[in-house]
Amino acid sequence: MKSLGSIRRSFAPWTDPSAKPYIVFENVTKRFGDFTAVNNLSLSIFEREFFALLGASGCGKSTLLRMLAGFEEPTSGRILLDGQDLRGIPPYRRPVNMMFQSYALFPHMTVEQNIAFGLKQDGMPKTEIETRVADMLKLVKLTQFAKRKPHQLSGGQRQRVALARSVAKRPKVLLLDEPLGALDKKLREETQFELMDLQQSLGLTFVIVTHDQEEAMTMADRIAILDKGEVMQVATPAEIYEAPNSRFVANFVGNVNMFEGKLTAREGERVTIAGSSGAEIKVVNAGDAAQGGDVAFAIRPEKIKVSSKRPGNSAANAMQGEVYDIAYLGDMTIFHIKLDDGQIIKASTMNSSRTVEDPLSWSDQAWISFEPDAGVVLTR
Ligand code: ATP
Repeated sequence: MKSLGSIRRSFAPWTDPSAKPYIVFENVTKRFGDFTAVNNLSLSIFEREFFALLGASGCGKSTLLRMLAGFEEPTSGRILLDGQDLRGIPPYRRPVNMMFQSYALFPHMTVEQNIAFGLKQDGMPKTEIETRVADMLKLVKLTQFAKRKPHQLSGGQRQRVALARSVAKRPKVLLLDEPLGALDKKLREETQFELMDLQQSLGLTFVIVTHDQEEAMTMADRIAILDKGEVMQVATPAEIYEAPNSRFVANFVGNVNMFEGKLTAREGERVTIAGSSGAEIKVVNAGDAAQGGDVAFAIRPEKIKVSSKRPGNSAANAMQGEVYDIAYLGDMTIFHIKLDDGQIIKASTMNSSRTVEDPLSWSDQAWISFEPDAGVVLTR
């Protein structure tokens, strides 16, 4: 399979074997009583990386962040930052700052007093504080709101004050725990781009916790998918989407169809997968999957074509079924096609023109087809 790098920029230190990671979780375990929240987890994050921890509620994301910030210590294992073992170093002495979902702004202080608070505590001279606060206000585009109190701001503006406050002290690493959780969808999307711009202009390392896959896909250079305190995959958004390493990751991120079966033959790159109903597909991207093994071919809905007639391309896999459901979403249409063996396949088509060449309706007979390289073979 072709390498799927970071689309956003040519920044990819994880592909350079000589690059030294900035943050290292080394066999970290965290137990609360007899409950294991983080299980022997190892992970490396590079300087200036925008790194996302993504997982369902309770998978241990916040616990990882809190250990990095110093609010919790690992039960075993080590966390290194720039080569230094962080064990025993209190939060305020780590070059790390955390921004909480609730923002935790002081309600009785103005915007500028909120931003200045940490700097004052550090004993920074007054004139320097003034300059720094003015810089921060400019950065988050809140100069005209400097004298307002938090309750006189919108949710998005409060979020930017919290952000300005957490970067004012110039931490090396900013930890963001669901930073956009309190914003509505539209504002969330706008703020995602602002956060990316801010991270790039400040040259900081961002570690963000989110359970929103779109958010992680939009913003992060790399994503770690977590489940029950373990890392399932660490990769760029494009790799996670196009080359998931397991059924869990394929199902967790985006929509996917799975053809379950046994790998029955291998001819060079091409393998044959036979489903329990006897239907066969011929695909590539099987890695070192063993002959006779149980595998799944995972394919995204947009990689599947739907047509009323049998497709002409003999190289492609084609299967017949019936239109079970159609959802028109404006920019695209999603078809649910029930195959003869009962499996329901999701296929999406972009509505790039206002007229449809091959209209399909509920209960019509339809064909689905896909190229051999349109998905990946998974063994776990
Ligand atoms: P969410 O998205 O819901 O915030 P999360 O992935 O961030 O979830 P964590 O907050 O890291 O999850 O918690 C992981 C697990 O550890 C959860 O089952 C939680 O109940 C448990 N846990 C976290 N902190 C403690 C604690 N102080 N004492 C006991 N159990 C805890």
